[in-house]
Amino acid sequence: VKKNDDKIKLNDFRRTKQLGAGDVGTVDLVTLDGQKYAVKSLEKQEMVERNKVGRVRTEEKILETIDHPFLSTCYAKLKTDTHLHFVLEYCSGGELYALMNRMPQKRLPEAWVKFYAAEVLLALQYLHLNGFMYRDLKPENILIHSSGHIKLTDFDLSWCQGETVPDIEKGTRMVKRQLPKDETGRVSQSTMEKYLVQKNIPLEIEQDDFKVKIVPKGRANSFVGTEEYLAPEIITGAGHDFMIDWWSFGILIYELSYGFSPFRGARRDVTFENVIKKPLQFPKVDPAADTSDECKDMLRQLLKKRPTERLGHERGAEDLKRHAWLKDIDWGLIRDAKPPMVPE
Ligand code: ADP
Ligand code: MG
Repeated sequence: VKKNDDKIKLNDFRRTKQLGAGDVGTVDLVTLDGQKYAVKSLEKQEMVERNKVGRVRTEEKILETIDHPFLSTCYAKLKTDTHLHFVLEYCSGGELYALMNRMPQKRLPEAWVKFYAAEVLLALQYLHLNGFMYRDLKPENILIHSSGHIKLTDFDLSWCQGETVPDIEKGTRMVKRQLPKDETGRVSQSTMEKYLVQKNIPLEIEQDDFKVKIVPKGRANSFVGTEEYLAPEIITGAGHDFMIDWWSFGILIYELSYGFSPFRGARRDVTFENVIKKPLQFPKVDPAADTSDECKDMLRQLLKKRPTERLGHERGAEDLKRHAWLKDIDWGLIRDAKPPMVPE
């Protein structure tokens, strides 16, 4: 990236405020020549200590590869001795999660749900065709661009074909923060395991040649949260593939439609059990405000416990695009469609 023939440096940006903090770093709003950007910063030392180098490499690789209107654009990558920074397109509308929380009963009108779902579907299709599983679909990772269209962001849990990544999920830090530390300031693996066993939290699931570890991860640093989006085959360790994203896609549509996710339990083990066993149910709501039968049918087909019965199993995203609920979407022109809401 060049500015007046010089390489852009971190000092060229003016930091305005913090936009977000996730598990692996912070995201700041910055300006350069009057233009706004979001910068995601990761600390190298921390990545090494927390065994996250593989995750960061994956995110880096995906950000470098992708070029799609509904995925975060990465303009530049800046490295210092201590940090790695990704300069990203700024999304002034914030998270879809925040929008949902501002709505009465946290419910989005069906037409809005359909619009956002259709754009997410295209983003997922693009990732899948490039050999990436997204694996972290949730309203927190869907950002609203100033145009009102969406950008899917956050690829550090994603997976690239041909790679075996140890899947040490990002929530480890949430647990670690609340546990006693040893002399070096770290939480030992055994302390953490004892804690999880005591809480009756499934610990580790071995899978083929790479290990899937399930540890608490959650929204806003709490224990509840994104486990609600995990597909049954991840929880049972039966082995998973691209179909997990279509499961999460179903959970997303449900949550945006009803204001809560369908399998959420009081504790994570209950949630897991619900995901694996509990039949899908729809809440009783005022018929005038209920979602259409087409939408419910789509949800029933997406939230099939068995991936081989799930919508998308035959022809991937194309199966979903052909569903009756989405028949009025003009797939080729959705970029030009009027979004439900344009941020101020
Ligand atoms: P993490 O892996 O830490 O969850 P994310 O990439 O999801 O990191 O970023 C964390 C949060 O920062 C997001 O949920 C969002 O609120 C904010 N954020 C990230 N990227 C942008 C962006 N391009 N524009 C505006 N806000 C952003
Ligand atoms: Mg995130």
